[in-house]
Amino acid sequence: MWRPTPLYRAKALENYLGTPAEIYFKYEANSPTGSHKLNSALAQCYLAKLSGVEKLITDTGAAQWGSALAMAGQMFGIEIQVHMIRSSYYQKPYRRYLMETYGATVYPSPGDHTEFGRSVLADDPDNPGSEGIAVSEALEEVRKDPRAKYAMGAFSNHNLLHQTVIGQETKKQMASIGRDPEYLIASVGCGSNMGGFVFPWLPDQLDGLDVSMIASEPEACATLTRGEYRTDFADATGKGPMVRTYTLGHEFVPPEIHAGGLRYHGCAPLIGLAKDEGLISSVAHPQTDVFKAGKLFASLFGFVPAPEACHPLCTAIEKAQECKRMNHSGVIVVNYSGHGLLDLPAYDRFNQGQLEDYRATGQEHQRRRTDMEVV
Ligand SMILES: *Cc1c(COP(=O)(O)O)cnc(C)c1O
Repeated sequence: MWRPTPLYRAKALENYLGTPAEIYFKYEANSPTGSHKLNSALAQCYLAKLSGVEKLITDTGAAQWGSALAMAGQMFGIEIQVHMIRSSYYQKPYRRYLMETYGATVYPSPGDHTEFGRSVLADDPDNPGSEGIAVSEALEEVRKDPRAKYAMGAFSNHNLLHQTVIGQETKKQMASIGRDPEYLIASVGCGSNMGGFVFPWLPDQLDGLDVSMIASEPEACATLTRGEYRTDFADATGKGPMVRTYTLGHEFVPPEIHAGGLRYHGCAPLIGLAKDEGLISSVAHPQTDVFKAGKLFASLFGFVPAPEACHPLCTAIEKAQECKRMNHSGVIVVNYSGHGLLDLPAYDRFNQGQLEDYRATGQEHQRRRTDMEVV
């Protein structure tokens, strides 16, 4: 349908930065729903169809995952029900319209539709919702319906496996131009686009290829950079399952940054393990730096990156500047996980100088407004 996705060389960015480094980006925004999430959604719907599952129920935040599953369900004739975090349901409705256009049923979470949702709303009628609440509602619905199963977007081993199509293609594309990557950079929310992008190179790294695999995170939710490697609940409500991975603590509520896909207290266990083993490293950026990178990128290429995808671009720019200082022609490859055309309100805030930065001080988060330089 849209694979293989293109690998572009970002020559205009190299020229703008005056760096001897080569910068490439793998363009996952080419998928119909605009991000890498469809790689797992299609695989899951296909396998569900083979297993006779008639309905898939899921939770979603800004709905990159929900819209991917809605589209894939439509393709395979599987009914899709989505519990969408209430604040996004009302404030960022475009992906909800998209899901409904594909024929999915979408409920705000917390919502009247479930017992758990009703109990949350009884305590707090204005509850904006959270990933944890949405998961609990989706699971309650799955338990009620024997035809239905729960579909997970990004956290599990199978999500990372499905996403390795990104890294496998990129490897072939790099080989075809005779280049080895020195830096592989991707954002980490749960870690599915990072795992899918970098893991196909792990055997090469273990065989001696000098490649740094860097996870790019928001300063406001820097799981790998500031979290601990230990056993914790995967969900926010502490119902389980428990996993061993990097975590900021399951009770940690990340501030409302615009890269909604990166607001998760933990990360996929394989990503946690790879960090703990020293196979991957991580960096964190404040969101104003991230949008500055996104705006620069848009002005040079026309493509507007999703706020999540601005993170690895921001890291790549820093690495390219480092290469310039050291007069080193490093090869930098970025996973461009999705487009930002449905995230334009966030760009509007940035353009108006109204974007807030959040910097972590341990697990306390201080809100401050920074002076911004317009690129
Ligand atoms: C969901 C999402 C992410 C983060 O999720 P991962 O599980 O870390 O891949 C990154 N970019 C985009 C565009 C997303 O939709």
